[in-house]
Amino acid sequence: MSEQNKPETIAAAHGVVADSDFHSVTPPIYLSSTFAFPGFAQSGRHEYSRTSNPSRDMLAEALAKLEGGAGAVITSSGMAAVDLVLSTVRRGDLVLAPHDCYGGTYRLLCARRDRDQFDVAFIDQGDASALAPAFARGPKLVLVETPSNPLMRVVDIREIASRARAAGAKTAVDNTFLSPALQRPIVHGADFVIHSTTKYLNGHSDVVGGAVIAANPTDVEELSAWANLTGAIGAPFDAYLTLRGLRTLFPRIQRQQQNAMSVARFLTKSPAVSIVHYPGLETHSNHLLAASQQEGFGAMLSFELRGGTDSVRRFVDAVRLFTLAESLGGVESLIAHPATMTHSGMGEEARRAAGISDSLLRLSIGLEAEIDLIAGLKCGLAAVERISQSEGS
Ligand code: PLP
Repeated sequence: MSEQNKPETIAAAHGVVADSDFHSVTPPIYLSSTFAFPGFAQSGRHEYSRTSNPSRDMLAEALAKLEGGAGAVITSSGMAAVDLVLSTVRRGDLVLAPHDCYGGTYRLLCARRDRDQFDVAFIDQGDASALAPAFARGPKLVLVETPSNPLMRVVDIREIASRARAAGAKTAVDNTFLSPALQRPIVHGADFVIHSTTKYLNGHSDVVGGAVIAANPTDVEELSAWANLTGAIGAPFDAYLTLRGLRTLFPRIQRQQQNAMSVARFLTKSPAVSIVHYPGLETHSNHLLAASQQEGFGAMLSFELRGGTDSVRRFVDAVRLFTLAESLGGVESLIAHPATMTHSGMGEEARRAAGISDSLLRLSIGLEAEIDLIAGLKCGLAAVERISQSEGS
């Protein structure tokens, strides 16, 4: 395949007919845990599958190309990918993280900080007055999540990466919510891109996996060495499935974001909804930044219902087509209540500081027909509106 191929072509065709023995169109899966040495004291391309594996490497190459990085490491989960990036910092180093990051990332950072492995400052990365004093503390690593989970806040990657570089820190961007189809953080100056491949990259809710893509070859080497040391690597079969999912990434996410825009517009019209967080809406405070930094607005959104937890319960019980489940980025639409699900482990105080209220619901918009998605949401909204009318009467 030509080096000049467009991203859509890389996603659809990387590794096609790579099998020189049988010319299989679909790449084979190499499940073998070990590989024969060519002879005494001679090493081959692969020796042992914890260190490297052809199926895993094929996915890594595809993701590195899509993100514009020097290489990638495929991990066993998105959390293992976050942790792999954390292996680059030392005791006493400061990590700057968003105060509204994914709950699992928040928990991991706190757990490692509590064991004295490094220091963490959680800040509002969209607040210029919070950035200056935080960077003045001399961080070694800046974690960015944009758009953030679940509030869909967008931060300026270029601005943060350039401040980080000036402070001698590296920048890692969790690109799970958009995928390289809609955002390429390395182009904006990031050193690392993190993915939970569980989400859009695989896209079919049948693999848990992760990846870290690094902009520079020395970092790729360091991350690969750590992944080999800790063994937090992805399995070959999972890599095969994820590459298979990646084939349709572009059309999936483009169609899903069209649905998301319609759903967001629909929700803004409901009297039961107090606010919709979707960067594609002109009313979103980071709309212009999202439009300049992203190739699209994605298929994740969140909204708040009037009437507190009671409304949330009624909505979730009555909504159709949206399954109440954690995770996101699959072909099927899901609904989550961050306060009791994805972000419950953060604790109430941290949730309040991040702005994650008990009335917030998060939607991952799938590939279903737009009309059916809206009909499903209408059922939930009708249950909430019924109760507010009866209370008002
Ligand atoms: N990063 C983000 C933004 C996520 O939403 C998630 C999971 O929801 C993760 C990382 C962790 O990924 P995984 O569940 O694959 O470990």
